[in-house]
Amino acid sequence: MPITRFAPSPTGFLHIGGARTCLFNWLYARNTGGKFILRIEDTDIKRSEQKYLDEILDSLKWLGMDWDELYHQAERFPVYLEYAEKLLKDGLAYREDQAIIFRVPENRDVTIHDLIHDKIVVNTETIKDQVLIKSDGSPAYNFCCAVDDALMGVTHVIRGDDHISNTPKQVLLYEALGFNLPKFAHIPMILGEDKARLSKRHGATAISEYRRQGYLPEALVNYLALLGWNPGNNRELFSRDHLVKQFSMKRVNNTAAIFDVNKLNWINGQYIKTIEPEKLTDFIEPLLKEEGYIKEGVDRNWLTGLISLYKTRLNTLQDFSRLAGFFFNDQARHDEEAVAKFLNTREAAENLDLLREKIKDVELFTAGEIEKNVRELVEQREIPAGQLIHPARVALTGGTVSPGIFEVMEFLGKDKCLIRMEDSAKKIRTRMDLKEKLSGL
Ligand code: GLU
Repeated sequence: MPITRFAPSPTGFLHIGGARTCLFNWLYARNTGGKFILRIEDTDIKRSEQKYLDEILDSLKWLGMDWDELYHQAERFPVYLEYAEKLLKDGLAYREDQAIIFRVPENRDVTIHDLIHDKIVVNTETIKDQVLIKSDGSPAYNFCCAVDDALMGVTHVIRGDDHISNTPKQVLLYEALGFNLPKFAHIPMILGEDKARLSKRHGATAISEYRRQGYLPEALVNYLALLGWNPGNNRELFSRDHLVKQFSMKRVNNTAAIFDVNKLNWINGQYIKTIEPEKLTDFIEPLLKEEGYIKEGVDRNWLTGLISLYKTRLNTLQDFSRLAGFFFNDQARHDEEAVAKFLNTREAAENLDLLREKIKDVELFTAGEIEKNVRELVEQREIPAGQLIHPARVALTGGTVSPGIFEVMEFLGKDKCLIRMEDSAKKIRTRMDLKEKLSGL
């Protein structure tokens, strides 16, 4: 049975690269009906922290990466000591002060058959003797890793190719301890668009940060799968089940993957579109509360309708408050360019007044009714519809881009519509008065 493992060190948050490594291990195990082990590599007691461990576990659960077994290396020190002592006894290691050190054989080629990089040959002349147990009694990474992978029956070590230099050292330890070698697959790194290794400099790297920004776990998993793996065709959207069925190590690229946040945004937007309105409201409502847009007791139906109106415009859940915040505030924040374009003539003020007068008496304030009345006004007064709608959009929303203006009016409600149009008309006239006064001086 194939057995894979993900082995994070709780010395930092789970980042994009780690999550992708985890996903590939998980997918391989699930695809083959194997076992997936989570192993916490917390031997570095000084640098390991509970908060990082909690965050890693939370993020993995959120991504849906379920594990079959969980180990903590910090609980296994006696095991490592036992194997280090075995190597001492066999004459393959020696003591130096309190430390136990592995004697690397001289001038030997170590060959690794990597599933992604094919053959890698390293001569032992380039490898120094390896510390197994440090003088403070704590075991070293390469040693724990080799012992655990062997004892846990790991058949496929799938990890980032920043670990390639560790692999020959681990292979030598396997041999010295008489363990069978697993298969190795070193996945190429993830780079930023500038081809430098992905880091904080390129924006968010922690999975928890993506979660906070309103990315969906399904979308992130979908995107991470495409970072280094390809399905062999142009398909880009995969359900988790489909990924599990399709995944194969053969289709993992051997060149670095470029992290493309626009692609991630697009994928996330595609997932948002497929979410049921009620469910989407469940996701967005807490964000709105957190950001202070709504309080308890908000009308759920109204909110769900409004979110549906914006659904196709969202790449992340956070986009909603960015785009639709003006529905919740007393006033819209007016974009200067939009004002200069559409709220800068007496005619615009007059048209706002006309529109306001017209909709004031609309009883049933629905998009359909509002539209009917506006069309009537257009015919009666022979005003091009745009000359009513453009200033109204800026007055109501603050900008020049929004969903259909009649729907916007319905969701804003009559009172807010009337107040905002009146207010904008007033501001236009004040500005025009001032302008004329200044030019008359
Ligand atoms: N604890 C190591 C890391 O986080 C794991 C490396 C491995 O997968 O062997 O990089």
